[in-house]
Amino acid sequence: MSVLPVVKYGDPILRQKVKSVNLNKIEFLVDFIDDMFDTMYEEEGIGLAANQVGKDLNLMVIDVTHLDEYEHLEPIVFINTEIIEEEGSIEIEEGCLSIPEIRASISRAESIIIKFYDINGVSKTEKFSGMLCRVILHEIDHLNGKFFTDYLSPAKRKLVHNKLIEISKNGFPSTGVII
Ligand code: ZN
Repeated sequence: MSVLPVVKYGDPILRQKVKSVNLNKIEFLVDFIDDMFDTMYEEEGIGLAANQVGKDLNLMVIDVTHLDEYEHLEPIVFINTEIIEEEGSIEIEEGCLSIPEIRASISRAESIIIKFYDINGVSKTEKFSGMLCRVILHEIDHLNGKFFTDYLSPAKRKLVHNKLIEISKNGFPSTGVII
C-alpha cells in the first residue's frame, strides 16, 4: 500500500473522459484501489477519482464515515458509474484535491440514482442524497474531465485561474503543471 501523487489542475488527464474498467480484471486493480484509499486519507479528502492519481479508468473511492450522518457507512468503491436520474438542486461549498486552496459554492442535484459495480464486480443501482450525493457527483465530473470550477461564471473562473497561476508559481505541489 502506498500514497500516490495527486494530479493537479492543468494536467491533461483531468480533462479527458476516462475508459471503462474491464469487469473481468477488477482483481488486478485491488492494490491500486488500496493505494487510492491511502492517498485520499493522506490528503484528507473524502473522495478520489482514478484519473486524479493518473489512471485513465472509470473508478472512484469515497469515504464519508467521519461525517455525522454516515458514521455507519463503509468506504465505497464505485466502478463504471452511470447516472440514471438526478433530482432537485442544492448549493454547497466544495473544494478539490486537484485544485489546491480554491473553494466555491456550486449548485448540483440533491439526490441521484446511479448504476455502478462494486469491488466484487456486482452490479448495483442505488439512490444517494445529502453530502454523499454531492461527493459522488464531484467525482463523476472528474471521470468526465470536468472540474467544479467549470460551473462558475466566466468572471469567477478567471479569478480562480489567476489564483492557480499564482499558487503554481509559489510551488504547486506537482511537476509539469500546465495551466
Ligand atoms: Zn475533485
